[in-house]
Amino acid sequence: MKNKKNRRSLITDIGLILRGYRVLYEVCPQNIIWATINAVAQQFAPYFTLFLSAELINRLMAGASLRVLLLLALATVTGQLLLNVAMHLLSQKAEETRSINFNLNELYMLKVGCRMQYKHLEDPDTALLRQQIRNFSNFGGNGLSRLYWCYQSLLSAMVNIIFSVSLTMSLFRTVSHGNLTGFLAFVNHPLSALVLLALIGLNIGAEIISIYRLEPKRTKLWSSFSLRFSRCLWYAELNSDAIVLGAAKLCIERCRQTLVDFDKECLRKNFTIAAKRSGISRAMETVTNLALYLYIGAKAYIGTFGVGNFFLYTGTVERFLRAVSDFGSSLSQLRQNNDYLLELYRYLDLPDEMYHGTLSVEKREDNKFEIEFRNVSFRYPGSDTYALKNVSFKFRVGERLAFVGMNGSGKTTFVKLLCRLYDPTEGQILLKGIDISKYNYDEYVRLFSVVFQDYFTFDFSLGENVSAKQDYDADKVWSCLKKIGIEEKFAQMERGLETPLGTGYQNDGVEISGGEKQKVALARALYKDSPYIILDEPTAALDPIAEAEVYSKFNEIVGDKTAIYISHRLSSCRLADKILVFHQGEIIQQGSHEQLVADAAGKYHELWNAQAQYYT
Ligand code: ADP
Repeated sequence: MKNKKNRRSLITDIGLILRGYRVLYEVCPQNIIWATINAVAQQFAPYFTLFLSAELINRLMAGASLRVLLLLALATVTGQLLLNVAMHLLSQKAEETRSINFNLNELYMLKVGCRMQYKHLEDPDTALLRQQIRNFSNFGGNGLSRLYWCYQSLLSAMVNIIFSVSLTMSLFRTVSHGNLTGFLAFVNHPLSALVLLALIGLNIGAEIISIYRLEPKRTKLWSSFSLRFSRCLWYAELNSDAIVLGAAKLCIERCRQTLVDFDKECLRKNFTIAAKRSGISRAMETVTNLALYLYIGAKAYIGTFGVGNFFLYTGTVERFLRAVSDFGSSLSQLRQNNDYLLELYRYLDLPDEMYHGTLSVEKREDNKFEIEFRNVSFRYPGSDTYALKNVSFKFRVGERLAFVGMNGSGKTTFVKLLCRLYDPTEGQILLKGIDISKYNYDEYVRLFSVVFQDYFTFDFSLGENVSAKQDYDADKVWSCLKKIGIEEKFAQMERGLETPLGTGYQNDGVEISGGEKQKVALARALYKDSPYIILDEPTAALDPIAEAEVYSKFNEIVGDKTAIYISHRLSSCRLADKILVFHQGEIIQQGSHEQLVADAAGKYHELWNAQAQYYT
């Protein structure tokens, strides 16, 4: 965050805050409604007591009957009791923030899972931004959660101001008709009310000046610290170099150092600024308080109102001044929070540049979804070298394909384009002769079951792992596990499909081996039952024999589906109907194993010979 952000205009600041509240309301409307009711009720209660108590004293002084006095006392006590119970219940509702935190996290997750383009997901800058937003939120309660808390305090202050102003109106209106001189005459004159109002105005002015002059300095200190800290934390947590090369310790040390620096540099300065800010506010508040008490005392002295009202006015005036100060500090927090909101909006506004067509993908039982790559070239965003170069290929439905080639030759990129994680830089991918971008995205991606290299199993139940659903078809899950060849292992388990895999989520889960996890991931691909099945080196944790076993089974079970198998182990690929050899982003050879291996000058022959020794 740069310094110039601290020089935003008032209009921009208000716009940022309003947008934040819009998002917050979309994310957790219930909480906002409860917070509103709570704030109003909490502020109403003390005024209720003040008003009725003043009334009681006034009537007592005016010699009202015992019955009236008792009734009033009873109403005050009962009302107070009922209000206390209601307030307790309401504050519990309003402070039920678990759902807010969950919903806010859901907002980040949804951005990740549903609305964020794949290129942003792969982008380390985006990952850093997401990490920062979480840090801001976790370490300082900033961002949308700050908006929530400020909402309660702002609303409380506003309600307080409205109640206190309406109850003190009569203080300025009532005058004595006696013969007064000097100070008492001045107090009885409307001009004195104007002087007091001016003093209150000054109070508010001091609050605003401190928000706009002093607060930005504090914000600058906090932001620069937060940014440095979250960067170190990010390096320590997520950068694989930090783990592999043992630099994690260095990063953690840096985090610690940043905290020490912060204590040294920032806390002291921050303290001075905060002291100045609260010093100015408090001084103004004390002067105004004194003037108001003097005014109320003098007016009571000259007999403009009774003892009851004296208590009412002193009580409300005190609450009024506190509300003005609370209002100011909430505003200042909101303004400071805008720096964090800007980061959040930057993340939420990451554009989805992908064209989303509306054409429906025809539903077919026969799985005849013909896809063609036509002169497709692709460069990753920000890269000037082509990962795929002028690739043309037409899938024959039901064909079993194997992609081979050295690392970085473009095999995975081909799959990413096929599944529309990226759009081609040049050329077209067509489904039934129509560009795939014209189709409804969700319907199009349903055509593919992919197991990527970095497949994942959850610590949830076996059934949920295979189906990726809470509500799954048990028979179908068992049939997929059977096809993959691990049905027996799980059938022995007491809880069958309910067995949690791993103990991370439930203590009583079972640990399974890497190979078994991979098979579960494969079963998941089968459960999805898409017309295209793609395995991108999903068997890396298996030894060559186990891999060949999976592959031969897989060959059996794909049935009439179109299958793509990517592997470094060429022996596993040789049963494919067709092998595509990738080299530097191009498909340089295609054919059956026998055809390709016979071409002594070809790349496949070279790759095969390099590996054959392991498998013979
Ligand atoms: P393979 O699957 O054959 O190992 P890839 O398709 O993963 O190869 O990679 C093809 C080329 O694209 C490589 O040069 C690789 O470095 C590059 N590449 C892959 N992913 C990205 C990415 N997210 N950003 C930039 N370049 C990438």
